[in-house]
Amino acid sequence: MKRVFFSLLFLLLTGAVALAWTFSPALLDPAPLQAMELPRATPPAGMSLSALPTGSMKSRAALAYRGGRFSDEREFAMTAILVRHPRGDLLFDTGFGRRLEQHLAMQPALMRATATFSKGTPAAEQLAAHGFDPARLAGVVITHAHWDHVSGLDSLPGVPVWVTAAESDFIAGGGDMTSVARSLDRLELKPYRFADRPYLGFTQSLDIWGDGSIVLVPAAGHTPGSVIAFITLPSGARYALLGDLVWQAEGIDLPAERPWLARTLVDVDAQAVRANIAHVAAIHRRFPQIRMLPAHDARAMAALPVFPAAAQ
Ligand SMILES: [Zn+2]
Repeated sequence: MKRVFFSLLFLLLTGAVALAWTFSPALLDPAPLQAMELPRATPPAGMSLSALPTGSMKSRAALAYRGGRFSDEREFAMTAILVRHPRGDLLFDTGFGRRLEQHLAMQPALMRATATFSKGTPAAEQLAAHGFDPARLAGVVITHAHWDHVSGLDSLPGVPVWVTAAESDFIAGGGDMTSVARSLDRLELKPYRFADRPYLGFTQSLDIWGDGSIVLVPAAGHTPGSVIAFITLPSGARYALLGDLVWQAEGIDLPAERPWLARTLVDVDAQAVRANIAHVAAIHRRFPQIRMLPAHDARAMAALPVFPAAAQ
């Protein structure tokens, strides 16, 4: 009996130590970039970028990146980004929608247990409140189809949702992580494909309006069809909308991946995420003028003008 007790205790302790180790710091190695110029862009006058904060989630730095502390409470932003362009205005992700409670109830219990959520005003309502008819949007470009990036789509009926073919398949394939996307009525998916045109070391890209001002690149791993959007404004200001490649800026700055528990819960391919983090970290070191915007980093999002204010 005693022996069984001590064997169990030993197993429990080694399990606890192993779990604790998965939260310990472990820096990724940014791959050196080939000699490379900042890509050319000719953003037209009238182009601008605004943030639409739709709510937030409170969690811990330890759950966002390896080496983060449990005592370090972090606000996770839920922010949609409006990019206006004479050829068409695009919304990048939606953040929380008006049916947040319903969408939250569809998430894994562990996710609900490790965070607290607060609801703001859906992006579509913020646009309408300032005289911008959301139906005028040329599309909603989603960085990926997780619930907190698509929850607000139900207030944007008829607006096409631009997704990669891989993400469209991911939604159609079932699974908890895309249940909210499938539950939305009148979801008008508009799958697109990338061209074999390199961009900042990514082998493929899609230059949406042909002027280099908005360029999407595939960044699979968090989900099969995750993308990063590189935005260049007329002022020369540059941004990278990273989606959930990392959850907090330290993910790129250190760089560091999510801890095992979070990776297991949310990423489909940890190795691909790791490779993309290392690559984006290398871009960040080489071109520090590109502002890195992890979708949930509240500090990075707070630095953006809130609609109707806009960076140009
Ligand atoms: Zn996600």
